[in-house]
Amino acid sequence: MDALRRDLERRRMTISRAIQTAMRSTREDGDRTEISKDPYGSASSSHDDELAAINVERLARDLKLIDRALADIDAGRYGVCVECEEPIAAKRLKVLPFATRCVECQAKSERLERVA
Ligand SMILES: [Zn+2]
Repeated sequence: MDALRRDLERRRMTISRAIQTAMRSTREDGDRTEISKDPYGSASSSHDDELAAINVERLARDLKLIDRALADIDAGRYGVCVECEEPIAAKRLKVLPFATRCVECQAKSERLERVA
């Protein structure tokens, strides 16, 4: 379990750094737009901002999942599905170390999200 925790903490650090970089570059793009006053430049920059925002959102979500996995390790309930409380398959955890749902519940929740 120690190796897993180290892996999660490494991912956590990589992601927080990526969030900081994305937010910093978003701010810098904003400044540049004001100075250049180029209509095409500002159009493409607002598109970049949008992409950066989506990216940060996804990274922040991953960060939350990692925090949750680390908390679950501490609580001794890592690898248990939050929906049905069955153990998540080891094969799935290897691919997605911070999965909080088993394959079945994940599929179910994705179907629900798509409907909503
Ligand atoms: Zn489940």
